[in-house]
Amino acid sequence: MTSPAEIVVTLDGAVVAAGFPVGHVDDPLFARGDGVFETLLVRGGRACLVGRHLDRLARSAASVGLPPPDQPRWRSAVATAARQWPGAGEAVMRLVWGRGHDGEPVGFVAASPLPDRVAAARRDGVSAITMDRGISVGEPPPMGAGLPRWSTADVKSLSYAVNAAALRHAQNHGADDVVLTSADGYVLEGPRSSVLIATGDGVLVTPPSTLPILSGTTVAAVFDVARRRGASCDERLLRPCDLLVAEGVWLLSSVTLAARVHTLDGHALAAADGVPDVAAMVDEAVGTPD
Ligand code: PLP
Repeated sequence: MTSPAEIVVTLDGAVVAAGFPVGHVDDPLFARGDGVFETLLVRGGRACLVGRHLDRLARSAASVGLPPPDQPRWRSAVATAARQWPGAGEAVMRLVWGRGHDGEPVGFVAASPLPDRVAAARRDGVSAITMDRGISVGEPPPMGAGLPRWSTADVKSLSYAVNAAALRHAQNHGADDVVLTSADGYVLEGPRSSVLIATGDGVLVTPPSTLPILSGTTVAAVFDVARRRGASCDERLLRPCDLLVAEGVWLLSSVTLAARVHTLDGHALAAADGVPDVAAMVDEAVGTPD
C-alpha cells in the first residue's frame, strides 16, 4: 500500500504540509495523468542519482510537450525535501511535473516512507509472471517499428494505470511482479523496473534501450559500476527462454533497487554460484555522488 506523502516541497522551495494544495482538481495533471514524474531513493539524508533523474525528467517533459524543467530549481527543491526527511532512514522521493488547468506547468517534490514490499523484495527476491503488453517490437528488431510517435511507452508518464493493472493482475495470480513482453515475444521491462540478467558467460544483459521501454537510471548506473569492476555489460534482445536459463535475473528500479527473480511463470530460476553481486553493485551505484 502506498503511504501518504509526508513532506511536500514546491519549486519555490517552500516546505508545505502534506495536505497543502499544490494544484487544482481540474489540472490535467490530476484529472488525466497528463504529466511526467520521477521516483528516486533518499538514503542517508541525500537523494540518489539526482542528475540521471533530472535528465530523464527533461526527456519525458519534451516527449509530452511540457516546458523543460529548470534543473537548478529542481535540484534545490530535491535537496530541501531530502534535508527535511527525518533521520538517516530511506524514503521515496517523487518529482512531479504536469499540465495545470491554465496551461501552465505544475511541479512539486514529495517524500514518503518506503512501501512495506521493498524490504521483502530486496531480501527474499520476487516471483514474476510474463505478460504480453500487446505491442510488437517489429522486424527487424530492435527499431521499435510500429510505435506511433506520440506513444508514451518510453516516457515516465503519470498515466501509470496500465502498469498498475498489470501488477494487480499478477498479484491476483499469486505472483509478486511482472515481466512484460512484446506481442512478438521479446522481453521488454517490468511495470516498475528494468530487466537485467547474468548470462552463463558472465555478461550482464538488459533489453536494448531502442525498444519501447523506459530507459532505467538504475540499470545504467549499475552498468557503470560493473564496467569499472571489469564486467561485460550489453544490451541485447531477450526472450523469456533466455531468462529461464540465465545465471541470475533481477528487476532493477530506483527504490526497490535489485529484486532477484526466483520464480518465473512457475519455474524456479537458478541461484548459481559465482553470479555477480548485483545488489552490492546497485548499492555502490546509488551511493555515487553526482
Ligand atoms: N521501467 C518502468 C516502466 C519503470 O516504471 C521503472 C521505474 O519506475 C523502470 C523501468 C526502472 O527505472 P529506474 O531504474 O530509473 O527506476
